[in-house]
Amino acid sequence: MNAYYEQDADLGYLQGKNIAILGYGSQGHAHALNLKESGLNVCVGLRPDSSSCDRAREAGLQVNTVAEAVKWADIVMVLLPDQYQKAIYETEIAPNLQPGNTLAFAHGFNIHYNQIVPDKSVNVIMIAPKSPGHLVRRTYTQGNGVPCLIAVHQDATGEARQQALAWAKGLGGTKAGVIETTFKNETETDLFGEQAVLCGGSAELIKAGFETLVEAGYPEELAYFECMHELKLIVDLYYEGGLSRMNFSVSDTAEYGGMTRGPRVITPAVKAEMKKILEEVQDGRFAKEFIDECNGGYKNLNRLRAENSGHAIEKVGSKLRDMMSWLIKK
Ligand code: NDP
Ligand code: MG
Ligand code: MG
Repeated sequence: MNAYYEQDADLGYLQGKNIAILGYGSQGHAHALNLKESGLNVCVGLRPDSSSCDRAREAGLQVNTVAEAVKWADIVMVLLPDQYQKAIYETEIAPNLQPGNTLAFAHGFNIHYNQIVPDKSVNVIMIAPKSPGHLVRRTYTQGNGVPCLIAVHQDATGEARQQALAWAKGLGGTKAGVIETTFKNETETDLFGEQAVLCGGSAELIKAGFETLVEAGYPEELAYFECMHELKLIVDLYYEGGLSRMNFSVSDTAEYGGMTRGPRVITPAVKAEMKKILEEVQDGRFAKEFIDECNGGYKNLNRLRAENSGHAIEKVGSKLRDMMSWLIKK
């Protein structure tokens, strides 16, 4: 693995440049504040009525409209929701970009699936922290950083890669390590991971386990603890030390039971379905379906959200979590 660290990146590629961060959400606030505190010249672009404007100003940042921020900037980082980026790009970003400017992203969806096709005269780069924005910010304030991916899609000025590395450094990422990839690999692995394992796979595994216990007559409370609540403790062990730390930490009974029964849950048929899901990501079928869904007003998404929030595990879970004083309520 080829990783880049502090000495491999030079903030000089960004110093003296005007940097616009579009959006002030999870990623936006972390990029804007970390880069500003790294000594760079940052302005935030938002819609005038945005609920984020006051928060950005209170944090000491310059705030402008998206169009004005892009006009002023040499480097524009797009940290808007993926599904709105194309429309905002066409109306407010593209008309204000100059040759030699740099367009940056934290996820490759819109570039990889040709939703945004920037002019050949601009650099197109990605700096993707492998973490939610709030951890990007917190680690920076503690003098550290999170690992980041960087990629170059277009290099118009010959500096695209150095700028991406410098951005990762300004975020704190080169303290942890930066790995170079492509827009294709970042986008396809990100979509597959969230569909098959992280969001889709884990949610269905939890629901199927919960339903199995409840249908067999066990109390919902016990089923919730076993199939959802305790999962966090297990995931923390994976996160800290992989499969071996998890198996070391659980009882021999759990280890033996898990290793012999797990493969009966995740069967070869499950993996065959994962391969189909990956193909839909690779050939663009998923991207097209999601874009159509957004354009159609989120009919399926709203129906699926309602189904999920009506599931028995959500009702019992919300009662049980009231017993847990340490949880942050949102
Ligand atoms: P959020 O939803 O947290 O924030 C989006 C921001 O965009 C908000 O400040 C919102 O403000 C603003 N916004 C929304 N619509 C518009 C509009 N029409 N015009 C101007 N501003 C608008 O997004 P994330 O930070 O989660 O995601 C940003 C990018 O980062 C995405 O590409 C995502 O894939 C990527 N990413 C996200 C990660 C994460 O942990 N969340 C991890 C790695 C990458 P308001 O609505 O108030 O106007
Ligand atoms: Mg994703
Ligand atoms: Mg147990």
